[in-house]
Amino acid sequence: MSVARAELVVDLDAIEANVRRLAAAAGPARLMVVVKADGYGHGMVPVARAARRAGAPWLGAAVLEEALALREAGDTGRILTWLTVPGEDVRAGVRAGLDLTAYSVAEVEHVRAAARDTGVRARLQLKIDTGLHRGGATETAWPAVVQAALDAQRSGEVEVTGMWSHLACADEPDHPANGAQEGVFARAVSVAEDAGLRFEVRHLANSAATLVRPSAHWDLVRCGIAAYGLTPDPVLGTATELGLRQAMTVRSHLVLVKPVAAGEAVSYGHTWRAPRDTVVGLVPLGYGDGIPRHASSGPDGRGAEVLVGGRRAPVRGRICMDQFVVELGHPADGGIPARAGDPVTLLGSADGAPSAQDWADAAGTIGYEIVTRMRGRQQRRYV
Ligand code: PLP
Repeated sequence: MSVARAELVVDLDAIEANVRRLAAAAGPARLMVVVKADGYGHGMVPVARAARRAGAPWLGAAVLEEALALREAGDTGRILTWLTVPGEDVRAGVRAGLDLTAYSVAEVEHVRAAARDTGVRARLQLKIDTGLHRGGATETAWPAVVQAALDAQRSGEVEVTGMWSHLACADEPDHPANGAQEGVFARAVSVAEDAGLRFEVRHLANSAATLVRPSAHWDLVRCGIAAYGLTPDPVLGTATELGLRQAMTVRSHLVLVKPVAAGEAVSYGHTWRAPRDTVVGLVPLGYGDGIPRHASSGPDGRGAEVLVGGRRAPVRGRICMDQFVVELGHPADGGIPARAGDPVTLLGSADGAPSAQDWADAAGTIGYEIVTRMRGRQQRRYV
């Protein structure tokens, strides 16, 4: 029998349940499940299939290659992409029937030219900057972008299917930017509709806004993080409180269990010193596998934790490239009576297991980054 050194298990039932939960929260608006960045580290194609099984009519991908990979995997539904560089060849996206996004007149023209080249009518959505000041057309550019879109549509080369924007502070429900962006978006929609455009979908909401801000739902919501069962931000509630189930579990086995004497220090830089005789275990995963080094413990011993024998064991000292040390404590002193080979859960939704959010808190980052970066040497398995 062979034991997996480390595995990343994705619970596709959890993803399906989360998608249904989000669709219910969004209704009557429809749901887009965002599967960019390899499905936030969960595997894009299996996640996309789970989302479709659960009834998601739309998928979202940042870049063209992602969406084309979905088509290659057999996905025939609606897929929106939103990030191309000037001059990028988008003809394959047009042929594949993707909904492409334009931020500017130049991008509208570029998609129109691709449609002309391929002889296929392109689907195009207009992205409006309502205050995030990342991508999207700023207010002064709206009339020209709308006119270019109208011209492209009248030529028959382009079908303008949507208008959308993205919120900057949706995970802070009381932030004034939310209402302000909604107002700007409504104005942009009016400018376009008054000019004669009719959109199939107008959309603004991410997971946080889907869960707590119905006024941002419009016709479609775009959910990423919540589909994977993570809270967009703990201020909105834990995943469980939000009715979500974390889909990702990362587990391994203790390589070694051994004593460390009082006063001895552990791992690179000797940042943590044992205050008493104790027992430590070695976990064979590190930042080379996506485990954040920032979740190391300093002298105060504060850092991430893992689950061993149903109990939490704290990370001690620095997380290395391939391994890190956890403190089990002396069994005689109430410590965890673990042995080499015992299972370790780094994160998961099982009873007592640290969540991705717990790791994010320990590392000073967000749950999004924790799951998205888990793309190392652990074997992926789907259940
Ligand atoms: N829409 C766009 C344009 C995005 O870039 C993202 C992800 O960052 C999402 C929606 C999904 O956001 P969330 O994961 O917070 O639901």
